Amino acid sequence: MANEFPFEISPMFEGERVRKDDMFVELAGPKSRGFELVKAAGLDEITDGKFTLIGPDLSQMQEGSRHPYAMIYRVAGKLVEPDLEAIVERRNHDFQNYIQGYMHLNQRYDVWVRINKDAIKKGLKSFEHIAKATMMLFKNELPFIEKIEATYITDADEVEKQRAEAIKIYEARDARTRGLHDEDVDVFYGCTLCQSFAPTNVCVVTPDRISLCGAINWFDGRAAAKVDPEGPQFAIPKGEVIDKVGGEYSGVNEKAVALSGGEYSRIKIHSFFEYPHTSCGCFEVVGFYIPEVDGIGWVDRDFNGTAPNGLAFSTMAGQTGGGKQIIGFLGVGVNYFRSPKFIQADGGWERVIWMPKNLMEKIKADIPPELADKIPTEAEVTDLKTLRDYLEKKQHPITQRWTKEEAVAEAALTETAEAAPAWSVPAPAMTMPVGMPMMPMGEGGGMKLTFKNAKISIDRIVFKNKEK
Ligand code: SF4
Repeated sequence: MANEFPFEISPMFEGERVRKDDMFVELAGPKSRGFELVKAAGLDEITDGKFTLIGPDLSQMQEGSRHPYAMIYRVAGKLVEPDLEAIVERRNHDFQNYIQGYMHLNQRYDVWVRINKDAIKKGLKSFEHIAKATMMLFKNELPFIEKIEATYITDADEVEKQRAEAIKIYEARDARTRGLHDEDVDVFYGCTLCQSFAPTNVCVVTPDRISLCGAINWFDGRAAAKVDPEGPQFAIPKGEVIDKVGGEYSGVNEKAVALSGGEYSRIKIHSFFEYPHTSCGCFEVVGFYIPEVDGIGWVDRDFNGTAPNGLAFSTMAGQTGGGKQIIGFLGVGVNYFRSPKFIQADGGWERVIWMPKNLMEKIKADIPPELADKIPTEAEVTDLKTLRDYLEKKQHPITQRWTKEEAVAEAALTETAEAAPAWSVPAPAMTMPVGMPMMPMGEGGGMKLTFKNAKISIDRIVFKNKEK
């Protein structure tokens, strides 16, 4: 059946990247606009396999050009219900990546597609090939879909118009979990869809923590597990509560061991520093610890500049992804900022010290009012010095941590000075979050310290003679 297409289709092409030099055309992505959307419909409302294109086709596009791009699918079947829309929509990512020469990244309004020159040379001329291959995969892999039709849009005005509607649909899906919390349910849902490129990643989706890709909430996980219990989304019975604030449960830990291949054995769903949730690479936002102010900044995919730590989103995304527990970086979905349990183990919103304007705009209704004017963006702050000054001027609650930490460090220094003759290099204190990996000092002289992914500022070093 796949012979009808001018490209090969296989899961082995997942992970294939189309670099700029090899690219024939770029669709949607950070420099354009786009989205993907799945809508449930009645069986009698759909003409199975129908494809509609609004806007120029591939054959009318110039090599090296960039275009807006939307992919809308309508699906029907006796088991298809609106709760399944997000789950089906998320599979567009992996099915399209089965197509040789076609790269699909991200999800929802963040999609980013490139088609390589070789695919065009081999005869790919129309989006119809792409849509028909994708629809074939949807039906083969998700048998509850009995009928499907697709509309692709490359016309800029039409993408813009329909994107606004799609965003309302995403928001309505996300809003469903607002009244439901982790303590109200006995079962969470897991997802291992991204293990194809991050083999140890296990997403845990709870009422208070949407998936880091932002595409799957607790209701979506439930609907997917119901219709295909052996599929990539599955139920995780919570088990016993081990740490209520951090969000640690025995049932989640059991699954983490089993599904990460023993890579890690504990997950704290609402913790940034201690046994944090893993990040595959699909996160909408990356959180990054800034030791100089003992706070956490957040940067989203749309931000093209550098954060106050001097790093761009892409650099930090490289540190964060891969399915490991990385202390100091964390991938989350935008909707997690709306959770009442947002990084509650580490101080919640009071630990947030920077985010880009665009991200702040999306979530500003959910920022606690007392912090609304205390969290700077790139408009007010460009580096660590201006960040620290801003937080101090606005009396951001993080400054209270500085006072406490400096007092503790000062007390330690006084003790040291009283205990033995010492000399010191003047300055204030070094801060280190709980859980930052540290190697203990060796026995026979010398020491080994390993700080992974840490930026450290040392304000005072005390040298002391070794006691005989
Ligand atoms: S990011 Fe997580 S929830 Fe989203 S598709 Fe990947 S594994 Fe599933």
